[in-house]
Amino acid sequence: MKVYDVAIVGGGVVGCAIAWYLAHCSLDILLLEKREDVCCGVSKANTGILHSRSYWTPGTLKGEMHLRSLSWFERAFRELGLSPLRCGALTLAFSREEARYLEVSTKSEETSAEAAILSPKEVLAIEPRVNPEIYAGYFDPETMVVSPFALTIALAEGAALNGVEIHCGKEVIALESSGRFLRICCSDGTAYHARFLVNCAGASAVRLAQNLGDSLPSLSFFRGQYFVLDRECQGFVRCVLYPVPTEKSKGILVAPTPEGNLLLGPNFEPTQGEDTATTREGLLEVERGVQRLVPDVPLDRVITTFSGVRPALPERDFLIAFSPSLPCVLHLAGIESPGLTACFGIAEYVGELLARRGLPLRERNDFRFRVPSRAFRECSLEERERLIREDPDWGKIVCRCEEVTLAEVKRALRANPPARTLDGLKRRIRVFAGRCQGSFCGMHLPRILESEGGIPVHGLQKSGPGSFYVLRRDEVATYAEVR
Ligand SMILES: Cc1cc2nc3c(=O)[nH]c(=O)nc-3n(C[C@H](O)[C@H](O)[C@H](O)COP(=O)(O)OP(=O)(O)OC[C@H]3O[C@@H](n4cnc5c(N)ncnc54)[C@H](O)[C@@H]3O)c2cc1C
Repeated sequence: MKVYDVAIVGGGVVGCAIAWYLAHCSLDILLLEKREDVCCGVSKANTGILHSRSYWTPGTLKGEMHLRSLSWFERAFRELGLSPLRCGALTLAFSREEARYLEVSTKSEETSAEAAILSPKEVLAIEPRVNPEIYAGYFDPETMVVSPFALTIALAEGAALNGVEIHCGKEVIALESSGRFLRICCSDGTAYHARFLVNCAGASAVRLAQNLGDSLPSLSFFRGQYFVLDRECQGFVRCVLYPVPTEKSKGILVAPTPEGNLLLGPNFEPTQGEDTATTREGLLEVERGVQRLVPDVPLDRVITTFSGVRPALPERDFLIAFSPSLPCVLHLAGIESPGLTACFGIAEYVGELLARRGLPLRERNDFRFRVPSRAFRECSLEERERLIREDPDWGKIVCRCEEVTLAEVKRALRANPPARTLDGLKRRIRVFAGRCQGSFCGMHLPRILESEGGIPVHGLQKSGPGSFYVLRRDEVATYAEVR
């Protein structure tokens, strides 16, 4: 019987960051994710901002984790092969009262070294499309944006490359303790054994803790809706544009993405559980919020909408604490914003807490860096020619909008962890993410997933259980004919 040193429950950015961090040490690590893939929870639907130190929340655990994370960024980007968009951010004040907020922020000891308050003229020199009624702006050059999928999947791949076992489709439902180790029971009847368990089940973390007999405060859920604008809008704004934040959130903003799209949103609305629907009212609120910052934002270039849900504790802070009943179980709950930014700090902190309870953290000397897979659309003409010469699949375009080739689809299906759904492919290689939102590649992919991934056309899912892509038996034949 194998006994893992640590079992991590939840393959969001936090669970994957902890797995990757612990993989630097000589340990047997297991990550259990209930969905068919990693990055299917809160981590798949957010703004992707790596908030700079100017935006930390003093006097909170989330603030502490945020600051810790900053010192990890450059090392993590190098080891994971990630290139965030180093775009900076402008916070825009439209009145004297709002400008006072900017002055208070700049006096904080933790403000980014080169951050500065700007006059309207200076703001417009940086971002000419900002509402000319601007009163003052606060420029912070250290803010970055990543693809939250790219970050989470890179962490999972980096962890797997270094021996972490990632098992998807494993919903943890119960724990039994023998004194020396834990027996972890999953809903499909399988069981695993580990010395420590880290519960980072996101929106389900409190429910899981309660299943294990621990009483954590209940979570409330706050939805944020977004518009995604076509890549044609690349360069419309260069920085992240924030309004002055409210007590509840950082507000409705405009953010460029590393892939060239623009994100508009999110609003902040209470919702029931993990309801990620978008609504007319919510999107109208986003529209109004964005137009206040940038009046001529090109809303006729919207290619899709989505929403994400913040799982929040009553204190609006992170909770990272050992279970009162099982001393080798660590719960993480209420990991809302800036959880993506703070993931490295959280991972380091979790490592320290486990070490204090006896987990031996001996750094290994054979840790492997993840080498990112090249995207065809980013290659020069010469590189494209070379790739096609080596393997003709590089010359077969599957997604026209994002120029994704058959070679990239095959690679994503064989990755560790592999894509098992159309959304899993989208998050890795951007099929379905372009202007046509899958109208073209959606005709080819079912057959490719069948022949290369062993996923029968009639069983193919868009995003997980129940989301069958091909609904009628006679449609299967249609896909079979496409070459
Ligand atoms: C609208 C919005 C905007 C945001 N913007 C930003 C931002 O710009 N910058 C930033 O830093 N942060 C941002 N955040 C916060 C950030 O997205 C989250 O803090 C972070 O993604 C939380 O990650 P997680 O791993 O805790 O949760 P999740 O990603 O939800 O991962 C939890 C995982 O656990 C799995 N799971 C649940 N129960 C079980 C079980 N019983 N067994 C096995 N697996 C289980 C789930 O399937 C899921 O995959 C934003 C959040 C939202 C909602």
